[in-house]
Amino acid sequence: MMDNRGTLVVISGFSGAGKGTVSRALVEKYGYRLSISATTRQPREGEQDGKDYFFKTENEFLSLVDYNGYIEYAQYVGHYYGTPRKFVEDSLDEGQVVILEIEVQGAMKIKEQYPDAILLFITAPSIEILKNRLVGRGTEAPEVIEKRMRRAVEEAESIPVYDYIVNNEEGKLEECMAQIHSIIESEACRVSRRKNFIASLKEGLKEYQG
Ligand code: 5GP
Repeated sequence: MMDNRGTLVVISGFSGAGKGTVSRALVEKYGYRLSISATTRQPREGEQDGKDYFFKTENEFLSLVDYNGYIEYAQYVGHYYGTPRKFVEDSLDEGQVVILEIEVQGAMKIKEQYPDAILLFITAPSIEILKNRLVGRGTEAPEVIEKRMRRAVEEAESIPVYDYIVNNEEGKLEECMAQIHSIIESEACRVSRRKNFIASLKEGLKEYQG
């Protein structure tokens, strides 16, 4: 992922941290691309197939695994989730910024395959606020919320693997987005991502070599 190749941005975070809202707002404001995952979980009220997720049966999901159709997939609280390969690879070839909103096991697999990916961990300011958001959302049964909170304990252990931790405070979506945008912009100037550009500068300097 250098010079003209696009940038892969992984956004993870505890359930209820507001990753979905932040990711969609980033796409809207900055024109980033958002990868739509496949999942075997049931659609929530208002979720649309092909927009929020590609909803699949377990057989459908696993047959695409056999065809190497995902760049990563993982199980999360009893269901499969995976990132379709083609959209991500095509978008990177076109030089786009691509956001993957995925959980921590998936993020680790992405880091192995795409070492230049930027890994962001989004969190609410406190666990109390997080739990209240999750309950207030009203989309999950109490036992599912308990499972997601227990999963958060494991997820917290993986935070050190991420490059950045970003706070998503209530009513401060713009600040959160601006922070992520500035991270992405700064990363684009990283020397390791500008190898072709640096080579072209050196090429231009050749005639002045002693
Ligand atoms: P939810 O059921 O709340 O939509 O998602 C549950 C978790 O799965 C979230 O942490 C979400 O980021 C993650 N997730 C969504 N899509 C993918 C994916 O393609 N791969 C992985 N590894 N995790 C995903």
